Amino acid sequence: MSADDRDVPRPHPQPRAAVRGLPLYAPDIAASTVDVSENVNLWGSPPASLRALAAAPAERVNRYPSLHSTPLHDAVLDYLGLSATSGVGLVTGCGSDDVLDAAIRAFGEPGDEVAFAAPTFVMIPIFTRLNGLVPAVVPMGPSYEVDPQQLVDRRAKITYLCTPNNPTSTAMSRQAVEYVVEHAAGLVVLDEAYAEFAPDVFTSLVTRSDRLLVTRTFSKAFGLAGLRVGYGVGSSAIVDAVMRARGPYKVNALAEAAAVAALSDGPGALGWVTEHATLAVTIRERLASALRELGFEPAPSAGNFLFVPTSRAPAIARGMRERGVLVRALSGLPHDVPAVRAAEGHALRIGVGPWASMELLLDALREVLACA
Ligand code: PMP
Repeated sequence: MSADDRDVPRPHPQPRAAVRGLPLYAPDIAASTVDVSENVNLWGSPPASLRALAAAPAERVNRYPSLHSTPLHDAVLDYLGLSATSGVGLVTGCGSDDVLDAAIRAFGEPGDEVAFAAPTFVMIPIFTRLNGLVPAVVPMGPSYEVDPQQLVDRRAKITYLCTPNNPTSTAMSRQAVEYVVEHAAGLVVLDEAYAEFAPDVFTSLVTRSDRLLVTRTFSKAFGLAGLRVGYGVGSSAIVDAVMRARGPYKVNALAEAAAVAALSDGPGALGWVTEHATLAVTIRERLASALRELGFEPAPSAGNFLFVPTSRAPAIARGMRERGVLVRALSGLPHDVPAVRAAEGHALRIGVGPWASMELLLDALREVLACA
């Protein structure tokens, strides 16, 4: 070091403005007996995945995992019924978060727009800003509809659709999804994180469109949120670009083994997943009627959770947390949907799980309402 260097002022390193302005993802975490705040599989994980983890050759973790998760690619394409389709590729990632982030980075230059209907998955505006892009928000219709024309009219570099949508739980119509895919100016990212609970899925549109990337995850119906595995499927050209923007080795070897096992047709594998997804749908409807009896108006759900607009959401969530039950309280939601406007932008998001835990949840809710 020269004497001159010592005299140069050395300000503290400053994060980029886009990073300084971002909230830290920090949901309310507290000790609880029932935690339905995350939309995960509350029945657990596929037994076949747990067996695969126990049997995984741990002595090989000094090596990197397979470069492109080849066994997982084959298993996922089979599961989606796309293994025989030429020109369609698959990119895996550390959760579908990773794939969504990489897709925005791959197709958007700084300053470009990402169009989406709000409210939607909280990480989308965050990944948009982090990658230097700008959110272009369109309102939802009175019954949580996504207006395909308004989205297309933005002529955004990237259009993001989420069906079933988090946090509203509502699904887009086939007509609306197809309209966006057929008319959008740029890349269309269709997030199907909750596909396994939905009455209609749109993954196969990738065979008809070379501007569509569909993302899915092992975190919800597949019960493997802690292992962080997600994927995107689309034309080979789109997938190739996302892979370049993502970087290698995002799915670790143990996660890959567990995900492959979940997709197998052995005992406690894919059958376990679909059986519990069906159960979640049945219990969702039962929980929705119990909530309606208490005077709430949950949005029509196509996922494994309910969206319940209520101005009392913060107080109810607090009261339930004191009784050992964690639900997600959302605030500051756009007022375009009349039910959300009437709730002053507040709502509860409640995950669906075994009926015994739903009973505990309803008991806690009744107690909180009685105290109010
Ligand atoms: N998309 C949606 C709509 C989600 O709700 C979530 C998780 N909350 C994700 C993507 C990300 O899931 P993961 O990264 O666990 O695959």
